[in-house]
Amino acid sequence: MYDLIIIGAGPSGLAAALYAARFKLEARIFEKFDCGGQILLSPSIENYPGFPDGISTLGLIENFKRQVENLGLKIENREVVGIAPEEGIFKVKTESGFFETKTVILATGAVSKRLGVDGEDKFIGKGVSYCGTCDGPLFKNKDIAVIGGGDRALEDAIFLASYASSVFLIHRRNQFRASGILVEKAKENPKIRFVLDTVVEKIEGEGKVGAVKVKNVKTGLQSNIACQGVFIFVGISPNTGFVRNILKTDQSGFIIVNQVMHTTMEGVFACGDCVKKSLYQVISACGDGAVAADSAHKYLLNL
Ligand code: NAP
Repeated sequence: MYDLIIIGAGPSGLAAALYAARFKLEARIFEKFDCGGQILLSPSIENYPGFPDGISTLGLIENFKRQVENLGLKIENREVVGIAPEEGIFKVKTESGFFETKTVILATGAVSKRLGVDGEDKFIGKGVSYCGTCDGPLFKNKDIAVIGGGDRALEDAIFLASYASSVFLIHRRNQFRASGILVEKAKENPKIRFVLDTVVEKIEGEGKVGAVKVKNVKTGLQSNIACQGVFIFVGISPNTGFVRNILKTDQSGFIIVNQVMHTTMEGVFACGDCVKKSLYQVISACGDGAVAADSAHKYLLNL
């Protein structure tokens, strides 16, 4: 019987684990892939305090992991497929059996959303990608379309411009959700061309991506942009399918939590990109994780 099982080893899960270990809880992290989560889709991070020159995301996650492991908390490679509340405890179901715990922290993160246009599924791995860091080097001296106007689109457009001949940043409005500093950097980059007020209608090609068919939403004009890569960054979708039957979520599946990371079920807490909140960043994920562990600790002590 564990005091706490943390599901997911991205920044929020690792921060929760750090606090849990220091509270001396009998705890484990279950992670289905490797530590890190979505932040590893970005090569480096510039807005995590304490690193004025930025830090590689892999380096940052390695440090988080080492700090947790130094305190003796184990990170186990297991995929959780369900949680069953049973007489005041929880049975965490994995593909390798059940584990009993008094509390659970969900830190399962999110995945990239699909754009949902013709040709997207067909060309995944043949020019369509959701990760600049992973696939950017394959597009050396090629033309690329980046779709979206958030932090990821701008960050990755800048990263991809270091490989590509040109990057067309296609965004459906003429204002950006991304931080001003990223928009400025992208505007200063001579390889990045902004294609605004424009939606992608179709991704075309013969066996691999050859062009995107776009439409200007103000003029209605349609045109083709020749490119060999299409990188899609149109938001995130939470990994919460396995708990939607027991917890309240919003329409998109983000878990509803209160200010101290309690979900709608006593003894279950959630943090990071899988919860409904206003800021999805590493700094806030870590803060959420610390608060979730503190709440789990207080729950165990009946405080
Ligand atoms: P995001 O901030 O939600 O932005 C999604 C972008 O895609 C928006 O510009 C949106 O346009 C556009 N979009 C959504 N659906 C679309 C559709 N069907 N067709 C065309 N465009 C569509 O998502 P994100 O950039 O993937 O980032 C996810 C979260 O991680 C964000 O909260 C972000 O701040 C955070 N993040 C932070 C950092 C960092 O701080 N370094 C880095 C990466 C990600 P509209 O604006 O018109 O809605």
